[in-house]
Amino acid sequence: MTSEVSNLFYMARQPRPFLDRAEGIYMYDQSGKRYIDGSSGAMVSNIGHSNPNVLAAMKAQMDKSTFGYRLHFRTEASEFLATKAASMMPEGLDRVFFVSGGSEAVESAIKLARQYAITQGQASRWKVISRFPSYHGCTLGALALTGYDPLARPFDPMMRDMPKIAAPTCYLDRDNLSDEARGLKYADLLREEIIAQGPESVLAFIMEPIGGASTGALVAPDSYYARIREICDEFGILLIYDEVMTGVGRTGAFIAADHWGIVPDIVAMSKGFAAGYAPLGAVVAKASMVEALLDAGGFLHGYTYAGNPLACSAGLAVLQEVERLGLVSNAANMGDILKGRLTDLMERYPFIGDVRGKGLLLAFELVSDRETMTPLPKELNAYLTLVELAYERGLIIYSRRTRGGVEGDHFLVCPPLIITPEQIEEIMAILIDSLDAFARQNNLPVNG
Ligand code: PMP
Repeated sequence: MTSEVSNLFYMARQPRPFLDRAEGIYMYDQSGKRYIDGSSGAMVSNIGHSNPNVLAAMKAQMDKSTFGYRLHFRTEASEFLATKAASMMPEGLDRVFFVSGGSEAVESAIKLARQYAITQGQASRWKVISRFPSYHGCTLGALALTGYDPLARPFDPMMRDMPKIAAPTCYLDRDNLSDEARGLKYADLLREEIIAQGPESVLAFIMEPIGGASTGALVAPDSYYARIREICDEFGILLIYDEVMTGVGRTGAFIAADHWGIVPDIVAMSKGFAAGYAPLGAVVAKASMVEALLDAGGFLHGYTYAGNPLACSAGLAVLQEVERLGLVSNAANMGDILKGRLTDLMERYPFIGDVRGKGLLLAFELVSDRETMTPLPKELNAYLTLVELAYERGLIIYSRRTRGGVEGDHFLVCPPLIITPEQIEEIMAILIDSLDAFARQNNLPVNG
């Protein structure tokens, strides 16, 4: 198929070649050109493409059944996956609700929180505080929590205005605070906001433990995480971790919360959960919350495709592969190597302002002045042009220009967790070639 005209549409015109096949970290278009999947799609394909064990599990499921509506049947695929997922989560997070994607997971998490509050006689609580910038999804409920103006503003009249606090963009701060003090400073913004809103009206706080698309792998100082948990507990507010991007090993822990020993009340997951083999996501919550809700008549929420056996067979096989191949620790180890190599680039390219992230959720940000972190001029459209230069050279990376409050072009380098040190060097070679071309195009300095 080669037609340029199509009946299909996405967010914008994206004249891309047709994908032919993919294997491991490599993807091939119909002309035979090879691409390194340096962003795992949109941080999805965590175990790489065409994993034979996942394909075999899906085929075996397909031979038995591909759909059983949840009101009519239980399926082993969904039961086994829920048990497996719960066993990999922190103690206490052991009830699993399936959905088909990240936005659905976030919608479900906030509705679960709301209904639970009602069962506790706290119907006055409905506000969900989130952060700015942030990304929680594109459905109207999740979008109301999303701190990213270009996507959200046109829909303002259709959404409840949800309160937002500043995300801990510490890399932009130029004060003399210690890391610990800075973490506490940002966390205390939550306390102030809860008090300003009236604690009895606040239902939950939702955060990406490590920022994804919105902030480019933004990690807060360690002190931030524990303090946020404390503040939520102080006011009886539910803590929701949006681990849609960070979950299932991406950051070098099964969920990112594990890095700090935090147990959120609710966790939203998707992306790496079935790693692109099927549309799947999950909300994992504390048993006490779910039991209260079921006792009170049930969860007033559910999707037709929830717990689809084919998707669940993929999810289960993915979690088994994550364990069998030791991908959580590989993400930590390869992440250290890749982060080191990206950091090395700062010597050659003075216009790289920051390298950040954890495990294999890594990003670099381009600036015109590293000292002041002044962004590159908007007109350069760096977030688009560098991605194109890399794409031409056979490397896929993911980028955004954050807008509103925080400005900057950042680039996520997040290969599948199966990556090897040799493949990291393949990524680096193309990235350097692309950055050199970008510097030439824009008259930016290059050292050495
Ligand atoms: N939350 C986070 C943190 C995400 O990164 C995303 C997707 N980028 C979503 C929610 C929404 O997921 P989906 O696109 O699958 O609806």
